Amino acid sequence: MIKRFGISWRSLRFRLIGWYVLLLVLTLTVFSFYIFFQFRDLQQAQQDINLQAALAKVNALVEGGQGGRGGDLRLRPPSPNQAVNQNLNLGNIQARLYNRSGTLVESIGSFAAELPEYKPNTSGFATLDTENSGQWRVYSQVIVGRDNQRVGWLVVGQPIVSVDTEVSKLFAPILFGAVLAFFLALLGGLFLANRALLPIDRVTRTAQTISTQDLTKRINYHGPEDEIGRLAKTLDRMLDRLEKGFDQERRFTSDASHELRTPLTALKGRIEVTLSRLRTVEEYQETLTDLKQEVDRLVRLANSLLYLARLDQAESFGRWETLNLSELLESLLDSLQWLAETKAIELSGEIAPTVKIYGSFDQLSRLFLNLVENALKYTPQGGRVLVRLQLVEKKVLVTVTDNGTGIAPEHLPNLFKRFYRVEADRASVSGGAGLGLAIAYEIARQHNGTIEVESNLGIGSTFKVILPV
Ligand code: ADP
Repeated sequence: MIKRFGISWRSLRFRLIGWYVLLLVLTLTVFSFYIFFQFRDLQQAQQDINLQAALAKVNALVEGGQGGRGGDLRLRPPSPNQAVNQNLNLGNIQARLYNRSGTLVESIGSFAAELPEYKPNTSGFATLDTENSGQWRVYSQVIVGRDNQRVGWLVVGQPIVSVDTEVSKLFAPILFGAVLAFFLALLGGLFLANRALLPIDRVTRTAQTISTQDLTKRINYHGPEDEIGRLAKTLDRMLDRLEKGFDQERRFTSDASHELRTPLTALKGRIEVTLSRLRTVEEYQETLTDLKQEVDRLVRLANSLLYLARLDQAESFGRWETLNLSELLESLLDSLQWLAETKAIELSGEIAPTVKIYGSFDQLSRLFLNLVENALKYTPQGGRVLVRLQLVEKKVLVTVTDNGTGIAPEHLPNLFKRFYRVEADRASVSGGAGLGLAIAYEIARQHNGTIEVESNLGIGSTFKVILPV
């Protein structure tokens, strides 16, 4: 039965209904008790009112005594030829009139139980506990004569049981109502919980059908912009990111294997051709020198791949510290001076002193090394490369400007993508694998910075790195 409603003991639905029922039972119990006690109080108050009214009725018939009433106390019949108690209509209230000496003068109403003897000191209400006839609620009035002497008293009373039986009549309907309300509310709760949780089930089922193999599916929840709508949207956005990530990963892997296979195949071919017959020592030397160049390229590629992988894995690898960027760039320029000289390129710097930023020395060195090396690589003999460090609007701006080959506009949007190279470089042995700028981009991103490029074909390029201070 429980399973048929789709409830397992550990489900949210079950817990919701459980709590709901518990609260409901508590509320109903408190409410029933409240009603019950209120009703009893009301009945008791009503009983007192009835007693007062009855006493007033009887009192109106009292004659005699010395309060201007003359003679001994007695009750005057309401009409001639009528017994006193016939027309009084006191219901199940009993009334007694006693005279000065405590003798019962008149008794009205007789039931299975008899109103107990009672001699009040003052007028008012009292509750009597008797052995034979249970509890009684009485109202009494002392009758005083002219000399302020008690000349008798009037008592009206009713067994308390009669109130309690009235009250107990309410018990059954309250219980019945509570049980009915309980079952109705239980059904309602089941319905509500199902309604509220159905969309979650739907979202879950859809999410289950989405596997890592096929990340193109989306939950596409059509419903109000409520908690569940937002959850579904969040999941969809997460899937977008996952899909993009997986796609990048796949492309990266396939690009990387391609990059590795091509030079390896070339190496193998070269070796096979060389081995196909005996060669002279010079020929072997020449081949080995060529092979070394290829192997160097492979080593560089492997190093770049490894570096990128480390960047991807740990958001902040390397030692992070506050470092002097001015010094870093100065020493970088010094170390590249010989390379510039071999190409007769004028490598110069305009470095603002003691600019400090928080970052990884290793990563930032790599970033600017890549940029300056590229500038030297793509600038012909006699060219100029200028590295400039400035503080602009509380940001650090580093530009690497060359007057080299420049880059055609169609390449600019893809320049920082992994393995992207301008076609002219693809064939050349000297060209890298197209990872240098991708690494630079990743490092800038991890330092909460950006990297941009401006370039004109044939005129030169400027790479701009903006970092927070
Ligand atoms: P690689 O490691 O192969 O040099 P990069 O990612 O560093 O790859 O560069 C990608 C492409 O951007 C290169 O193929 C090159 O054509 C172009 N490029 C980079 N820097 C410059 C520059 N300063 N001047 C002209 N072209 C450049």
